[in-house]
Amino acid sequence: MTEDQEEISAGGIIQTPKGVHDILPVDHEYHTFIKKVVRHRLRQAGFRRISTPIFEFTELFQRGIGADTDIVSKEMYTFQDKKGRSLTLKPESTAGVCRAYIQNGMANLPQPVQLYYIEPHFRYDRPQKGRYRQFCHFGFEIIGESDAALDSQTIYLANLINKDLGIADLFTIQLNSIGTPQSRKEYAKVLTDFYFDKERSLCEQCKARLKTNPMRLLDCKEESCGILAQIAPKMADYLDEESKVFHADLKEYLDELGIKYVENPNLVRGLDYYTKTVFEFWDSAEGAQNAIGGGGRYDGLVELLGGGPTPAVGYAAGIERIIANMKREKIRVPHKDVIHIFVAQLGKEAKKKCLSLIADLREAGVKTMGALGKDSIKTHLRLADKFGAPYTIIMGLTEVREKVGIIRDMKVGTQKTVPYEKIVPEVIKLIGKENLDKYSAGELLYG
Ligand code: AMP
Repeated sequence: MTEDQEEISAGGIIQTPKGVHDILPVDHEYHTFIKKVVRHRLRQAGFRRISTPIFEFTELFQRGIGADTDIVSKEMYTFQDKKGRSLTLKPESTAGVCRAYIQNGMANLPQPVQLYYIEPHFRYDRPQKGRYRQFCHFGFEIIGESDAALDSQTIYLANLINKDLGIADLFTIQLNSIGTPQSRKEYAKVLTDFYFDKERSLCEQCKARLKTNPMRLLDCKEESCGILAQIAPKMADYLDEESKVFHADLKEYLDELGIKYVENPNLVRGLDYYTKTVFEFWDSAEGAQNAIGGGGRYDGLVELLGGGPTPAVGYAAGIERIIANMKREKIRVPHKDVIHIFVAQLGKEAKKKCLSLIADLREAGVKTMGALGKDSIKTHLRLADKFGAPYTIIMGLTEVREKVGIIRDMKVGTQKTVPYEKIVPEVIKLIGKENLDKYSAGELLYG
């Protein structure tokens, strides 16, 4: 067996590819809760949801994110379709959202256009804790206006969502300005000069980055590179006047909002499209290794993709890492995946009656399960217990003949016989109207 085959199948059982995983029902409880919080906070702030395709032309990311970035040069799932076009599974969504903004004429809408997304993304990363090859980002973008107040709103909203999720205190907001592309160009020259005679102390990756993207040397995780980064010239000393004023304004607004941040002159973010503001939420204990989200201003991206000059700012966070932090903090999320009632039956006649009873109960909003494939009241009661159903309806031949059903309180063990047509209202009374799972005005209340 080759190594590849071994990876595909362990003991004859097909496995998931490396770095991807199933989202099992227990984790979906978290996913659903996080989506609800994100939707709620962003809706309150006037954002609307967008989904861009899972794959796009590779050129979108090459042009948008930058060909020399880690994501584009190493981490993309790129393939050719049957006509030889180069396509890529999206590694992030900002480039796609900007493409959608241009392609759908959103520049004609009232500005800024505020969009959010909750989507899977794909990166050929080395799988490790908190780093997967398919992961879920939620993110939001404010496109079409430039003001430091919008950057402060972005950071405020990201922090508010973290607060709602119960994890805000675990993270510090790292903040920096990387200026305009022009001032960055000049700074890159200064950095290249600084590293000129120090190349031997750099890791192999940074040696290569020095030629393509010297600012990335500042956030390298290797110890020797980190030591040099500490004494390297700082971007703040080379910022253009406009960026300086913008950054000072942003800090003033954050102070006004009571948002605490740490100024981090070495924060550059890994994507080429950022201008001025960059920020990340770092784990207070583990630092950048376990960042849960980051963002910044990207005033040049829409233009780079063929649109008109359009300033923008945004944020994205990794849902898997958020969940890992919530679990570590033992944060439990409310969920509605509980059943109200179990229907137990014996014999074909009773089963027939139960089919319509189950449908009626569900229609009324009662979450109902029945073991229709099995024929033993004892087995059914045991199952009802295992599923945690507070009540069970029992129907046998006698009940069918007498047009009644037995409702059993599973906790207390008491039973009462109810006429068939009174079963649904009686069950609703028992579980409480407010607990029903019903559609309201066409919208599912839970989901
Ligand atoms: P980025 O824009 O690359 O900084 O990504 C934003 C957030 O997405 C990060 O802070 C992580 O929480 C999450 N993230 C990025 N890459 C991965 C990955 N490979 N697996 C899981 N989460 C990731």
